[in-house]
Amino acid sequence: MKLIPRVVAQVIEPQPVLEGAGVRLKRSIATRTLSYLDPFLLFDDFGSTKAEDYQAGFPLHPHRGIETVTYVLSGEVHHRDTLGNAGGIGAGDLQWMTSGRGIMHEEMPQVSPEGIVGFQLWVNLPAKQKMTKPNYQDVRSSRIVNISDAGGASVRIIAGKVFGHEGPVQGIVADPLYLDVTVPLRSRFEHPIARDHNAFAYLFEGEAKFETSEPDGVSLSHPKLIVFGEGDLVRVHTGERPARFLLIAGKPLREPVARYGPFVMNTREEIEQALEDLRKGTFVATE
Ligand code: MN
Repeated sequence: MKLIPRVVAQVIEPQPVLEGAGVRLKRSIATRTLSYLDPFLLFDDFGSTKAEDYQAGFPLHPHRGIETVTYVLSGEVHHRDTLGNAGGIGAGDLQWMTSGRGIMHEEMPQVSPEGIVGFQLWVNLPAKQKMTKPNYQDVRSSRIVNISDAGGASVRIIAGKVFGHEGPVQGIVADPLYLDVTVPLRSRFEHPIARDHNAFAYLFEGEAKFETSEPDGVSLSHPKLIVFGEGDLVRVHTGERPARFLLIAGKPLREPVARYGPFVMNTREEIEQALEDLRKGTFVATE
Protein backbone atom coordinates (compact mmCIF):
# COMPACT_ATOMS: atom_id res chain seq x y z
CA MET A 1 0.00 0.00 0.00
CA LYS A 2 1.33 3.39 -0.97
CA LEU A 3 1.54 5.82 1.94
CA ILE A 4 -0.05 9.15 1.12
CA PRO A 5 1.54 12.30 2.56
CA ARG A 6 -0.90 14.68 4.16
CA VAL A 7 -0.81 18.05 2.43
CA VAL A 8 -1.56 21.42 3.97
CA ALA A 9 -5.33 21.96 4.06
CA GLN A 10 -5.36 25.28 5.92
CA VAL A 11 -2.81 27.70 7.37
CA ILE A 12 -4.03 29.58 10.42
CA GLU A 13 -2.53 32.90 11.45
CA PRO A 14 -2.78 32.97 15.28
CA GLN A 15 -5.17 35.69 16.45
CA PRO A 16 -4.51 38.01 19.41
CA VAL A 17 -7.07 37.35 22.16
CA LEU A 18 -7.56 38.76 25.65
CA GLU A 19 -8.48 35.89 27.98
CA GLY A 20 -8.74 35.10 31.70
CA ALA A 21 -8.15 38.15 33.87
CA GLY A 22 -6.35 39.91 31.02
CA VAL A 23 -3.86 37.51 29.44
CA ARG A 24 -2.76 38.42 25.94
CA LEU A 25 -2.44 35.22 23.98
CA LYS A 26 -2.41 33.96 20.42
CA ARG A 27 -5.33 31.69 19.50
CA SER A 28 -5.42 29.39 16.48
CA ILE A 29 -8.33 27.01 17.15
CA ALA A 30 -11.64 28.45 18.40
CA THR A 31 -11.25 31.36 15.99
CA ARG A 32 -13.40 32.66 13.16
CA THR A 33 -11.27 30.81 10.61
CA LEU A 34 -11.10 27.53 12.53
CA SER A 35 -13.79 27.02 15.13
CA TYR A 36 -13.26 23.29 15.69
CA LEU A 37 -10.87 20.64 14.43
CA ASP A 38 -12.64 17.59 15.84
CA PRO A 39 -11.70 16.56 18.59
CA PHE A 40 -9.68 19.76 19.21
CA LEU A 41 -11.74 22.67 20.50
CA LEU A 42 -9.13 25.32 21.18
CA PHE A 43 -5.42 25.99 20.83
CA ASP A 44 -3.76 28.89 22.63
CA ASP A 45 -0.14 30.06 22.69
CA PHE A 46 0.37 32.10 25.87
CA GLY A 47 4.08 32.74 25.36
CA SER A 48 5.37 36.23 26.09
CA THR A 49 8.45 37.96 27.44
CA LYS A 50 6.34 40.77 28.92
CA ALA A 51 4.98 40.12 32.43
CA GLU A 52 1.96 42.36 31.79
CA ASP A 53 0.85 40.02 29.01
CA TYR A 54 0.44 36.99 31.28
CA GLN A 55 0.68 37.86 34.98
CA ALA A 56 -3.08 38.42 35.48
CA GLY A 57 -3.53 34.71 34.78
CA PHE A 58 -6.71 32.68 34.79
CA PRO A 59 -8.36 33.00 38.23
CA LEU A 60 -10.97 30.50 39.45
CA HIS A 61 -13.13 29.24 36.59
CA PRO A 62 -15.09 26.06 35.80
CA HIS A 63 -14.75 23.43 33.08
CA ARG A 64 -17.10 20.63 32.07
CA GLY A 65 -17.07 18.10 29.26
CA ILE A 66 -13.50 18.61 28.03
CA GLU A 67 -9.81 18.02 28.65
CA THR A 68 -7.33 20.88 28.93
CA VAL A 69 -3.71 20.17 28.09
CA THR A 70 -1.11 22.64 29.34
CA TYR A 71 2.48 22.37 28.08
CA VAL A 72 5.09 24.75 29.45
CA LEU A 73 8.53 25.20 27.89
CA SER A 74 9.81 28.15 29.88
CA GLY A 75 8.61 29.66 33.16
CA GLU A 76 5.95 28.09 35.37
CA VAL A 77 2.17 27.91 35.70
CA HIS A 78 0.70 27.34 39.16
CA HIS A 79 -2.64 25.57 39.31
CA ARG A 80 -5.10 24.81 42.07
CA ASP A 81 -8.61 23.40 42.07
CA THR A 82 -11.46 23.26 44.57
CA LEU A 83 -11.05 19.49 44.96
CA GLY A 84 -7.70 20.14 46.67
CA ASN A 85 -5.35 19.44 43.77
CA ALA A 86 -2.50 21.95 43.43
CA GLY A 87 0.93 22.16 41.90
CA GLY A 88 3.24 23.78 39.40
CA ILE A 89 3.74 23.07 35.73
CA GLY A 90 7.37 23.98 35.09
CA ALA A 91 9.64 24.11 32.05
CA GLY A 92 9.22 20.95 29.99
CA ASP A 93 6.26 19.70 32.06
CA LEU A 94 2.77 18.96 30.83
CA GLN A 95 -0.59 18.58 32.50
CA TRP A 96 -3.41 16.63 30.87
CA MET A 97 -6.52 17.54 32.84
CA THR A 98 -9.78 15.70 32.23
CA SER A 99 -12.50 17.95 33.62
CA GLY A 100 -15.26 15.41 33.16
CA ARG A 101 -18.42 16.52 35.00
CA GLY A 102 -16.73 19.50 36.54
CA ILE A 103 -13.74 21.18 38.08
CA MET A 104 -13.20 24.74 39.29
CA HIS A 105 -9.60 25.77 39.00
CA GLU A 106 -7.16 28.61 38.61
CA GLU A 107 -4.13 28.68 36.33
CA MET A 108 -1.59 31.35 37.17
CA PRO A 109 1.54 31.93 35.06
CA GLN A 110 4.38 33.03 37.33
CA VAL A 111 6.38 36.12 36.46
CA SER A 112 9.98 35.30 35.61
CA PRO A 113 12.76 37.29 33.95
CA GLU A 114 12.81 35.09 30.84
CA GLY A 115 9.02 35.32 30.43
CA ILE A 116 6.86 32.33 29.65
CA VAL A 117 6.53 29.87 26.79
CA GLY A 118 3.52 27.61 26.85
CA PHE A 119 0.47 26.26 25.10
CA GLN A 120 -3.02 25.12 26.00
CA LEU A 121 -5.03 22.67 23.95
CA TRP A 122 -8.65 21.70 24.62
CA VAL A 123 -9.67 18.18 23.65
CA ASN A 124 -13.33 17.29 23.44
CA LEU A 125 -14.77 14.35 25.36
CA PRO A 126 -17.31 11.97 23.81
CA ALA A 127 -20.89 12.10 25.16
CA LYS A 128 -20.40 9.01 27.28
CA GLN A 129 -17.32 10.52 29.01
CA LYS A 130 -18.47 14.10 29.52
CA MET A 131 -19.73 13.50 33.05
CA THR A 132 -16.84 11.26 34.11
CA LYS A 133 -14.82 11.87 37.26
CA PRO A 134 -12.19 14.62 36.94
CA ASN A 135 -8.64 13.35 36.47
CA TYR A 136 -5.13 14.79 36.24
CA GLN A 137 -2.10 13.40 34.50
CA ASP A 138 0.82 15.52 35.65
CA VAL A 139 3.86 14.73 33.57
CA ARG A 140 7.23 15.99 34.74
CA SER A 141 9.77 16.85 32.09
CA SER A 142 12.04 13.97 33.16
CA ARG A 143 9.34 11.46 32.15
CA ILE A 144 9.14 12.77 28.59
CA VAL A 145 11.45 10.74 26.37
CA ASN A 146 13.47 12.71 23.84
CA ILE A 147 14.48 10.62 20.86
CA SER A 148 16.50 11.42 17.76
CA ASP A 149 15.12 10.18 14.50
CA ALA A 150 17.04 9.13 11.40
CA GLY A 151 16.46 12.46 9.66
CA GLY A 152 18.15 14.41 12.47
CA ALA A 153 15.04 15.65 14.24
CA SER A 154 14.67 15.33 17.97
CA VAL A 155 11.24 14.47 19.30
CA ARG A 156 9.78 14.78 22.79
CA ILE A 157 7.04 12.17 22.99
CA ILE A 158 4.15 13.34 25.16
CA ALA A 159 1.40 11.11 23.81
CA GLY A 160 1.46 8.48 21.11
CA LYS A 161 4.27 6.36 19.79
CA VAL A 162 7.52 7.06 17.93
CA PHE A 163 9.84 4.17 17.00
CA GLY A 164 8.32 1.96 19.69
CA HIS A 165 8.65 4.63 22.42
CA GLU A 166 5.32 5.53 23.94
CA GLY A 167 4.55 8.88 25.59
CA PRO A 168 3.61 9.04 29.29
CA VAL A 169 0.05 10.35 28.74
CA GLN A 170 -2.22 7.29 28.70
CA GLY A 171 -5.86 6.32 28.58
CA ILE A 172 -7.20 9.31 26.63
CA VAL A 173 -10.28 8.59 24.51
CA ALA A 174 -9.09 10.64 21.52
CA ASP A 175 -6.07 8.31 21.21
CA PRO A 176 -3.91 11.42 20.82
CA LEU A 177 -0.54 12.01 19.29
CA TYR A 178 1.27 14.94 20.92
CA LEU A 179 4.88 15.46 19.85
CA ASP A 180 7.27 18.36 20.33
CA VAL A 181 9.54 18.21 17.29
CA THR A 182 12.80 20.09 16.71
CA VAL A 183 14.20 19.84 13.19
CA PRO A 184 17.72 21.19 12.55
CA LEU A 185 18.45 23.09 9.35
CA ARG A 186 18.53 21.17 6.03
CA SER A 187 16.77 18.15 7.54
CA ARG A 188 13.59 16.18 7.16
CA PHE A 189 11.05 14.82 9.60
CA GLU A 190 8.37 12.28 8.80
CA HIS A 191 5.76 10.67 11.01
CA PRO A 192 2.80 8.36 10.34
CA ILE A 193 -0.66 9.49 11.42
CA ALA A 194 -3.66 7.16 11.65
CA ARG A 195 -5.74 7.71 8.52
CA ASP A 196 -9.00 8.49 10.33
CA HIS A 197 -7.42 11.02 12.71
CA ASN A 198 -7.34 14.79 12.33
CA ALA A 199 -3.89 16.36 12.55
CA PHE A 200 -2.26 19.76 12.86
CA ALA A 201 1.15 21.26 13.53
CA TYR A 202 1.83 24.41 15.50
CA LEU A 203 5.05 25.97 14.26
CA PHE A 204 6.40 28.11 17.11
CA GLU A 205 10.08 28.51 16.22
CA GLY A 206 11.89 28.99 12.94
CA GLU A 207 10.74 28.11 9.48
CA ALA A 208 9.82 24.90 7.67
CA LYS A 209 8.49 23.60 4.41
CA PHE A 210 5.23 21.65 4.42
CA GLU A 211 3.86 19.49 1.62
CA THR A 212 1.14 20.77 -0.66
CA SER A 213 -0.41 19.39 -3.84
CA GLU A 214 2.26 21.42 -5.72
CA PRO A 215 5.72 19.81 -5.93
CA ASP A 216 7.45 22.72 -4.17
CA GLY A 217 5.34 22.70 -1.01
CA VAL A 218 5.00 25.81 1.07
CA SER A 219 7.56 27.50 3.33
CA LEU A 220 6.07 28.91 6.51
CA SER A 221 7.50 31.00 9.35
CA HIS A 222 6.40 30.84 12.97
CA PRO A 223 3.90 31.30 14.44
CA LYS A 224 1.43 29.34 12.30
CA LEU A 225 -1.02 26.54 12.83
CA ILE A 226 -1.07 24.13 9.92
CA VAL A 227 -4.08 21.86 9.42
CA PHE A 228 -3.29 18.72 7.44
CA GLY A 229 -5.61 17.02 4.97
CA GLU A 230 -6.20 13.29 4.70
CA GLY A 231 -3.39 10.79 4.32
CA ASP A 232 -1.02 8.51 6.16
CA LEU A 233 1.96 10.63 7.16
CA VAL A 234 3.21 14.12 7.79
CA ARG A 235 6.49 15.25 6.22
CA VAL A 236 8.37 18.44 7.07
CA HIS A 237 11.58 19.83 5.55
CA THR A 238 13.86 22.56 6.76
CA GLY A 239 16.14 24.79 4.73
CA GLU A 240 18.61 27.32 6.08
CA ARG A 241 16.75 27.69 9.37
CA PRO A 242 15.80 25.10 12.00
CA ALA A 243 12.19 24.66 13.11
CA ARG A 244 10.29 23.59 16.17
CA PHE A 245 6.64 22.61 16.17
CA LEU A 246 4.04 20.59 18.02
CA LEU A 247 2.54 17.77 15.98
CA ILE A 248 -0.89 16.88 17.33
CA ALA A 249 -3.46 14.39 16.08
CA GLY A 250 -6.54 12.66 17.44
CA LYS A 251 -9.59 10.64 16.58
CA PRO A 252 -12.62 12.79 15.68
CA LEU A 253 -15.76 12.24 17.76
CA ARG A 254 -18.31 13.25 15.07
CA GLU A 255 -20.83 14.30 17.72
CA PRO A 256 -22.91 17.48 18.06
CA VAL A 257 -21.09 20.28 19.90
CA ALA A 258 -22.78 22.77 22.21
CA ARG A 259 -20.19 25.14 23.64
CA TYR A 260 -20.46 27.99 26.04
CA GLY A 261 -17.15 29.36 27.31
CA PRO A 262 -15.50 26.68 29.45
CA PHE A 263 -18.36 24.18 29.02
CA VAL A 264 -18.55 21.92 26.00
CA MET A 265 -21.45 19.52 25.87
CA ASN A 266 -23.62 17.93 23.16
CA THR A 267 -26.85 19.85 23.67
CA ARG A 268 -28.05 23.29 24.72
CA GLU A 269 -29.96 21.65 27.63
CA GLU A 270 -26.70 20.21 29.01
CA ILE A 271 -25.16 23.70 28.92
CA GLU A 272 -28.19 25.06 30.81
CA GLN A 273 -27.71 22.26 33.33
CA ALA A 274 -24.04 23.22 33.82
CA LEU A 275 -25.04 26.85 34.46
CA GLU A 276 -27.74 25.75 36.86
CA ASP A 277 -25.30 23.49 38.74
CA LEU A 278 -22.96 26.48 39.06
CA ARG A 279 -25.77 28.67 40.45
CA LYS A 280 -26.86 25.98 42.91
CA GLY A 281 -23.31 25.25 44.04
CA THR A 282 -23.56 21.63 42.92
CA PHE A 283 -21.17 21.98 39.98
CA VAL A 284 -18.21 20.27 41.64
CA ALA A 285 -19.04 16.86 43.07
CA THR A 286 -16.80 16.26 46.05
CA GLU A 287 -17.17 12.49 46.45
MN1 MN B 1 -8.87 26.26 32.79
